[in-house]
Amino acid sequence: MLKNCITCGKQTKSYSEFPCVECGEKIVRCAHCRKISNKYRCPSCKREGP
Ligand SMILES: [Zn+2]
Ligand SMILES: [Zn+2]
Repeated sequence: MLKNCITCGKQTKSYSEFPCVECGEKIVRCAHCRKISNKYRCPSCKREGP
């Protein structure tokens, strides 16, 4: 199943999904963004994380 990476917006099937530390919203990040340690921003509370 494909999901949209929250950081780069691409659809990916190798992603990691984890809850936002602030609000628990699901964060989806592709393997590439994880590898290069791209920051993410939670769509719901705007918190940024590594
Ligand atoms: Zn990505
Ligand atoms: Zn959040």
